[in-house]
Amino acid sequence: MSSGKNIYYLDYAATTPVDAEVIASALPYFGSSFHNPASAHLLGQMASMAVEHARSQCLSAINGKGAGNVYFTSGGTEAINWAIKCVRIPQGSRIVVSALEHDAVTACAERMKQRGYEVVTVMPTKDGIITPEALESVIDDNTSLVCVMTVNNIVGTVQPIKELTEVAHSHGALMFTDAVQAVNSVPLDVSDTGVDMLCVSGHKFYAPKGSGFLYVRSGVGLDPLLDGGSQENGYRAGTVDVPAAVALGTAITRAAQNTELYRRTAKAAADAFLSALDCGSPILPGVPRADDILSVVFDGVNGGRLAVALSVAGVCCSVGSACSAGSATPPPALLAMGIENADCAVRFSFGKNTTPQSATAAALIVNETVAKLINSKL
Ligand code: PLP
Repeated sequence: MSSGKNIYYLDYAATTPVDAEVIASALPYFGSSFHNPASAHLLGQMASMAVEHARSQCLSAINGKGAGNVYFTSGGTEAINWAIKCVRIPQGSRIVVSALEHDAVTACAERMKQRGYEVVTVMPTKDGIITPEALESVIDDNTSLVCVMTVNNIVGTVQPIKELTEVAHSHGALMFTDAVQAVNSVPLDVSDTGVDMLCVSGHKFYAPKGSGFLYVRSGVGLDPLLDGGSQENGYRAGTVDVPAAVALGTAITRAAQNTELYRRTAKAAADAFLSALDCGSPILPGVPRADDILSVVFDGVNGGRLAVALSVAGVCCSVGSACSAGSATPPPALLAMGIENADCAVRFSFGKNTTPQSATAAALIVNETVAKLINSKL
């Protein structure tokens, strides 16, 4: 699609392009090495070796070797559904869920409520942090599971997962963290944090859509989400998507080795964007956050209307997570943080291919578009 006009993509938190190196690593498994990794013959076993290599790469990238295992899924949503709905926890026990979570987590928590569990929300500070003290105030010894995301997908706040895990464990509860938005911005270390389950999604870090994994610490009781064959050690039925697993292994290795570079590139772009912006108030200025996500409130301009106008003008961004893009209400995370005029917020997110020049050019379009929308009301 080419309209002749420059299009600036500032929506990397919605999805990223697949890296050329990632495509190259996966390509043989679509063609010459297409075989089923569950087949007992030589060609199947070669495919199986590629899957096991990818698993080992994924485990290394999160420092999980010796601590647990990873199981390939069709992305973040499946891994979240699996973790929350299939972990073996006592019927009727309490599940604590942060108010910053993605729809996939809140919807699963709602389902668990329907199944007779008590679901309790832990609120963030106005700076978007779930503190150990806040968790202490809602957890009890009947709590079996705590769900707090590692990096928030709307404002980029990084949660103190290690400390939160300590609180969860001190009450005998398991800790699950959705790390889908974290891979490009913070190192993941399940051995250090001690989390019981963690999920990632490939399309957020330059691997294909429909790839992801769930990490499960050894000893955590988890039933399969999908019943069928005995793939993935009997944990996840269905023929393993070999190209997706290989791509995920390559992409997460690259991300883990280059976190600092990805972070610096995104920061340079976000800084250039902010210094060229002559309108709006960034949410949480000065609060330590992931550098690739920036939400801005434009007082007097509806965020949804602005995002549409920006798309027409050539800047692609969003008002919240891509999964709820059609929603008329502002992202729940912003409401939970008590952000004023949350309905006037727009999220810009930057990637390793965003240059400061393109971020500046996009900011100038934002300035013009906001001014036009405000003037059109006068
Ligand atoms: N969790 C977070 C924080 C996300 O941002 C997303 C995707 O937007 C998901 C989960 C869902 O992941 P997937 O798109 O792989 O299903």
